[in-house]
Amino acid sequence: MGIVSKGSTCDVEDCEEVAVRSLNTKKVEDAGLRVNSSGKKTALCKKCYKEWKKATKEDRSLERARYDRG
Ligand SMILES: [Zn+2]
Repeated sequence: MGIVSKGSTCDVEDCEEVAVRSLNTKKVEDAGLRVNSSGKKTALCKKCYKEWKKATKEDRSLERARYDRG
């Protein structure tokens, strides 16, 4: 996972933050994030990357722990 070059913006829908990470588009979509990217790679800003991490984490474990948070 490379770090994207300065000046790129986040590929998540409705987000225009500066991108800090670049991930496989499929991985991002699998986590439930909507992306505008049509390529293999999706650029994510700090915030969206955090969201993505959170989402993938929930997938793997914690399926019970977060149930009651709505
Ligand atoms: Zn973003």
